Order: sequence, then structure tokens, then C-alpha cells
Amino acid sequence: MKTTAAVSREGAAAPSIETLDLESPRPGEVLVRIVATGICHTDLRVHAGFGPGTPRPIVLGHEGSGVIEQVGEGVTTLAVGDHVVLSGASCGTCPSCRRNAPIFCAEMLPRNFGGLRMDGTSALSQNGTRIHGQFFGQSSFSRFAVASERTAVKVAKDVPLEILGPLGCGVITGTGAIIEALKVRAGDTVAVFGVGGVGLSAIMAARLVGAARIVAIDVLPSRLALARELGATDTLNANDGELAKALRALVPGGVSFTLNTTSSPEIYTQAIDCLAVRGTAGFVTSPRGEWKPPMFSILSGGRKLQGILGGDAAPRFFIPMLIDYYRQGRLPFDRLIRFYRFEDIATAFHDMERGETIKPVLRMES
Ligand SMILES: [Zn+2]
Ligand SMILES: [Zn+2]
Repeated sequence: MKTTAAVSREGAAAPSIETLDLESPRPGEVLVRIVATGICHTDLRVHAGFGPGTPRPIVLGHEGSGVIEQVGEGVTTLAVGDHVVLSGASCGTCPSCRRNAPIFCAEMLPRNFGGLRMDGTSALSQNGTRIHGQFFGQSSFSRFAVASERTAVKVAKDVPLEILGPLGCGVITGTGAIIEALKVRAGDTVAVFGVGGVGLSAIMAARLVGAARIVAIDVLPSRLALARELGATDTLNANDGELAKALRALVPGGVSFTLNTTSSPEIYTQAIDCLAVRGTAGFVTSPRGEWKPPMFSILSGGRKLQGILGGDAAPRFFIPMLIDYYRQGRLPFDRLIRFYRFEDIATAFHDMERGETIKPVLRMES
């Protein structure tokens, strides 16, 4: 069949909308009509050539939501008409997958960033020329996508599908970091560095679990204002001097947890220096350039530094739970979203890069 997809080609400023051929689902796969898809910083980075060896041309997109149109042989958990949120790809049999931690799948890199199925094929092509896909098991910058059964998480039909895509990456990363990875509890104190989509999701989750102080840190006043509305008790502008000092003035003794969503080496240090003794500094990306951890501070305060991928959460369990919270009005993640027509993907990329839009979501039918 034909699909319309946004193709990332070497040297182009943004993906271009093109007509592609898409194979039918193979055994264990499903065909999804994408209703909407979020854009995440990882899409921007990989498009610009900073992927871990990700080949081009490729169709990116990894926050897709849609409807099952067709199921391949052997698919038992999904049926035509089901609403799904697409999360990442994993093997299902390695030790991490068996422990319900698919984000740490032994085949995480090839399955999510390799651009091909594990047998070396792609479901996408153009006039006989291969186009890479399978990005996070989905390549959702397309009107139709072929995904493996494990990638598609079935969701309830009473919530609008067009807002649900970001649950697959940005929102699960931020909320999972607080709830699953750091295990923040009522009475704890939290500082979140960088309040884009992941940081604001973390702020909402910190409020949800009853954190006593929630400090949002960013350079954009508009984001700090939104952070307050979503649960931050205090805000700091990162341009206003030394952050660790300012945080210690706000929360005497330091905060119990920090979550760093930035890649600034300086912030990595500040996010440890502001911790209370035995506090934990979580981070979701890696520092840009060289960075030396403040080892004396870590040792002398019994502090921890914790890497967090995908919120350390199992999508099949966690995404339906996030939808329950949304229904109850306790996780208004739709406040982060600005919709764009699929054809306007270049504008959406641009607005996200400049920080003007927190979470762009492309509507496939406009
Ligand atoms: Zn695995
Ligand atoms: Zn992402």
C-alpha cells in the first residue's frame, strides 16, 4: 500500500513529505493508521545526524497514536479497531524484557535506532529503493505504520487519541522518572532542571505523589509560569546566578531529589551540589562534552547519580495508568501540546528547536 510520510534525508533542514510504499504486516506485526504523533528532541537530533549510527533516508517519529487497521499472523493481544499508543521496540526474551524493563532490552539500540527490522529488512520503500524505518519500532511520521505487537499499547477509547502519542516517550519519561525510577514520595523535595515536555511531566508527577516542595528551573519565563500552574511550588531562572546556592536558600539542607533534563555539564554539577545528604540526582540525557562528576560531594553526602531511560517504566502497565490520572484531572499533559498539520512538520521542528512549543503534535488528517 501507499503511505504519506516525512522522510529525513542527509543535509535537509527538516523532513520532507513524500509518498512511500509500505509492506503489509508480517507475522507478529500490526498495521496502524496514525492519528497523531508527537515530536521529541530525539527526532530533532537524529534528523540532524546525531543518532547512534542511525542510517538515512529514514522516517522518524516515535510518539505515535492510532488505530489498528490490520493484524499479522500470530498477533493475539490486538484486534482491528483497537486504539493504541506506540512505545519503543524490545525483544521480549532478554533478561530485562523478562523483568518488565523493556527500555533496557539487550537489543535496545538496533531495534530502536537501527532503521531496519532485526532481519535486515524495512517495511518502507520508494520506487523500489529502500527507505529506513522502524524508528523506536514505529516511524510514526507517516499516515500508516507497521509496528511489532510488543510496540503497540492498547488504550481505552474514551480519551481523544490525538493527545495520547506523547505518553509513549516524553510524558512516560518525565512521570516515570519521578514515580518509578526515583520513587519520590509524599513529603520529599524535588528540583527539576529544564522544564520542557519531560521536565513538566516530572513536575506534574511530583505533585501527584505529594512532594512537599517542587522547584522548577529553566531560562524561559513562559515555561516557568506553566510549571507553576502544573505543580511547581517555586521557580528559579537559571540565568540568575548560582543555582545550588539559590536552591539551598529555598530548601534548607538541600533537596531530596533532582531531575536533570538538560545536557549542560554545569547543570549536572549544580544538580548534585544542591542535594541533601543521601539525595539522588537523576538524569535523562548525557552531558554535552566533557564533565567530571563532583566525586567528593557524592561520597561525603552519600549521594547518588542515577541514569534514567524511558522513565524506567513498563509502557503496558504505565501508559494506561497515566490515562487514568488524566481522566481524574491529576495529570493534564494535554496542556503541553500544540497541534500542527502533518504538512507543517518543518514549522513544528523549528518551533520546538526554539523552545516556542513544548510538545508539538502533528495531526495526520487535517
Ligand atoms: Zn529484550
Ligand atoms: Zn523521545
